[in-house]
Amino acid sequence: MTELINKANKCLLCKNPICKQNCPISTEIPTIISLYKDGKTQEAGEILFNNNPLSAICAIVCPHENQCLGNCIKGIKGEPVEFYKIEEDISTEFLKRGKLKTNIDKNNKKIAVVGSGPAGLTVAVELIKKGYDVTVFEKNEELGGILRYGIPEFRLPRSIIDNLINLLKEAGVKFKVNTTIGQIITIDKLFEDGYDSIFIGTGTWNPKRLNIKGETLGNSYYAIDYLRSPKNYDLGEKVVVIGAGNVAMDAARSAKYYGVKDVYVAYRRDFSDMSATKAEIGDALKEGVEFLTYKAPVEINENGIVLVDTKKIVDEEGKSSVIKIENSEKLFECDSILIAVSQIPRNTIISNNKSVKANDKGLIIIDSEGSTSRKGVFSSGDVTHGPKTVIEAVVESKKVANSIDNYLKSKQTS
Ligand code: FAD
Repeated sequence: MTELINKANKCLLCKNPICKQNCPISTEIPTIISLYKDGKTQEAGEILFNNNPLSAICAIVCPHENQCLGNCIKGIKGEPVEFYKIEEDISTEFLKRGKLKTNIDKNNKKIAVVGSGPAGLTVAVELIKKGYDVTVFEKNEELGGILRYGIPEFRLPRSIIDNLINLLKEAGVKFKVNTTIGQIITIDKLFEDGYDSIFIGTGTWNPKRLNIKGETLGNSYYAIDYLRSPKNYDLGEKVVVIGAGNVAMDAARSAKYYGVKDVYVAYRRDFSDMSATKAEIGDALKEGVEFLTYKAPVEINENGIVLVDTKKIVDEEGKSSVIKIENSEKLFECDSILIAVSQIPRNTIISNNKSVKANDKGLIIIDSEGSTSRKGVFSSGDVTHGPKTVIEAVVESKKVANSIDNYLKSKQTS
């Protein structure tokens, strides 16, 4: 606590805070820091939660280096204020004790939320606050989406997700786990049963293939599947992870965490091109993960993975591309390979509901209000644009919750 107060004391409480301007959800950083310094943590927690129901989670998983941390004035000449650590302290405490203030006048309108990831949870919070009767349908046995089944527990304690869900349950949100929408229960059935509007926040759960020979062999796995239950995998002593985004870093770090001796990340470009945050790359390096840059996968076989050397070429317009260097293929011996080269939607919901249109990648098509091609059905989060971040799902879903509210209010008056 004293350490955090020292951090708070470093804040200049700027009148035009650049940190807030660069926060995707415009967190009131100086206000929160002032309240924290005055010991008004409950009030600070309420402000944070009302603006961002996933504040406690974002405080841990956001790419702070591009947001509050990277835009702190103090960081120009010295150490920036680590606001996110203060936010984590306030918001985790708030989730333990706080209450979700709802509109006392229930409006007797029912909302079905499909998916309990950041998008679904945000819509559930925003609409229960406005007096709606909200039911969340989740195909997994536990709630939270990628927060529960993707981001490793050593990065995001599960107690935080549990406390958030408990807050929602206390406020009256109903959760139906082990329930996949689009198979037995369809969108039509939900409307028949009296739901006034349906929200789809089903994310992207199918791994993208590498499309190389040997990808289905017994020593090759997709990182998104592995991260669901890393304890159940026997990866051996030496593992190569393909890819360099956050999923690749989480897979590499999990492999280390669960006892793999040698873990390598192979990537066809260099560190500066990696999409994982600098913080995650730094943590992976600290934990002993090794990086093989300028290497692309060619084939997987029983002995490991064949990698080819690559080279980055920059054209006259400054656009870069990667070429493979001929005859540089070499077997990299290893026990297992984890493939982490992005995800696409797993759309049971679309294939059985043709009226909700998706593009050729399976991403749900929405308009600027989050409305799908089917009246009364809305969507946001990864399933609408592919894998992005928690905070982006929250920001979009807050907006879409308002669109649902406006839609149902206008329906009532027309
Ligand atoms: P999801 O979190 O995918 O949730 C979708 C939910 O819908 C799931 O619970 C799923 O089971 C459920 N569902 C799917 N189909 C159905 C159906 N038919 N019926 C009922 N339920 C269904 N972002 C960050 O900001 N920081 C990070 O550090 C970070 N690390 C990541 C690490 C990993 C390994 C991964 C995979 C992603 C990471 N992300 C990170 C990205 C972030 O987690 C996602 O952008 C975010 O979770 C998207 O939220 P969502 O609600 O759209 O989807």
